[in-house]
Amino acid sequence: MLDYVSLEEDLGEEERMIRDTARRFVEEEVKPDVGDHWIEGTFPTDLIPEMGEMGFYAPNLDGYGLPNVSEKAYGLLMQELEAGDSGLRSMASVQGALVMYPIYAYGSEAQKERWLPGLGTGELVGCFGLTEPEHGSNPSGMETYAEKREARSASERSGTTAEKEGDEYVLNGSKTWITNSPISDVAVVWARDRSAEGNPVRGFLVETDRDGVSTNKIDEKLSLRASITGEIGLNNVYVPEDAVLPGVEGMKGPLSCLTQARYGIAWGAVGAARDAFETAREYATERDQFGGPIGRFQLQQEKLAEMATQITTSQLLAHRLADLKERGDLRPQHVSMAKRNNVRMARDQSRIAREMLGGNGITADYSPMRHMANMETVYTYEGTHDIHTLILGEDLTGIPAYE
Ligand code: FAD
Repeated sequence: MLDYVSLEEDLGEEERMIRDTARRFVEEEVKPDVGDHWIEGTFPTDLIPEMGEMGFYAPNLDGYGLPNVSEKAYGLLMQELEAGDSGLRSMASVQGALVMYPIYAYGSEAQKERWLPGLGTGELVGCFGLTEPEHGSNPSGMETYAEKREARSASERSGTTAEKEGDEYVLNGSKTWITNSPISDVAVVWARDRSAEGNPVRGFLVETDRDGVSTNKIDEKLSLRASITGEIGLNNVYVPEDAVLPGVEGMKGPLSCLTQARYGIAWGAVGAARDAFETAREYATERDQFGGPIGRFQLQQEKLAEMATQITTSQLLAHRLADLKERGDLRPQHVSMAKRNNVRMARDQSRIAREMLGGNGITADYSPMRHMANMETVYTYEGTHDIHTLILGEDLTGIPAYE
């Protein structure tokens, strides 16, 4: 495996162990049929509890059965999962960074106790509803809203699982492009609270079996096919007041979750690129043309040299981010730089790897084109490449250029 500047030497025992466990899991359980899942447009759902058992969901959090591993170990885990497929890493990112993290960081004790253990083991699945049909790159324009109402009587509440007497919220709106919404038990829905002054954005924990919730699947994707994507429709959905995440108000809520997930993506993209590289390197030494392996041609060697260089510099950035995160010095803008750079790198280099495989490279028998197609999603979600450019532009000049 490519580790050109011996980053492995600096890993701790726990980091190596987690990396190796994830690598083995991907080799044995994922790689053999991920190409078929990708073609079929399915996710290997049987792996969801297995990934939970192995501690792949939010292992960098502490308590509630979570082991509090180092940020580097968490990053290495994301790297190995995405070497299998971006759909797999997306599963772990959404569950851990976008669902468990907000409950952990902003939830009440009761919410943490209710949700974190089941999400951690993969017995429950969660999703993160921020994007709307008309509001993607600018989620602060969201139209989904919540209004406080006096609790209805028990009979009126049939179909909900709400126990609590007192106030309730009613939610209306629609979210789209939501990873895992069709298979989720709970959705973290971000909505404007019209009952509070200034209509602040707040997070709501919405069970997907509540009356008025629909989660249609989005089909015919040409990217991230081994991942389930859907909508969340909210039509007069009543939730008890204690479904609100009490610890955060405003866009800081969803954006702070995205920083956690983007950190994992910066690592994950390196894994996808590394897998594409290793596939191309092996192919170059085995595929003969003009009387010998294609890897003897300078043109092919230049591609491998460039790929290895790009992957290595992205690895270095990811490792540095882990150190900054561990000591509390990581800024969202650092994460923007790494997400932007590493995903672009993986998008470009998986295409070069595909090219080196000739005709075989366009089949699902080899990983590079699958990674390349997946990278179109990874380049787009969690802040598009353009949006991260603007975040960096603002950080470097002090002048926002979004509008
Ligand atoms: P738009 O915002 O309409 O952007 C279109 C183009 O315009 C882009 O190239 C963009 O970079 C560019 N653009 C926009 N604004 C500017 C500007 N100010 N300056 C320059 N260029 C600009 N969302 C969730 O909430 N939860 C999920 O789990 C989730 N999972 C996803 C899974 C998949 C497979 C996909 C494809 C998306 C997912 N998303 C999810 C949504 C994703 O975050 C959005 O697609 C993304 O934020 C971009 O929004 P948009 O698609 O509406 O594009």
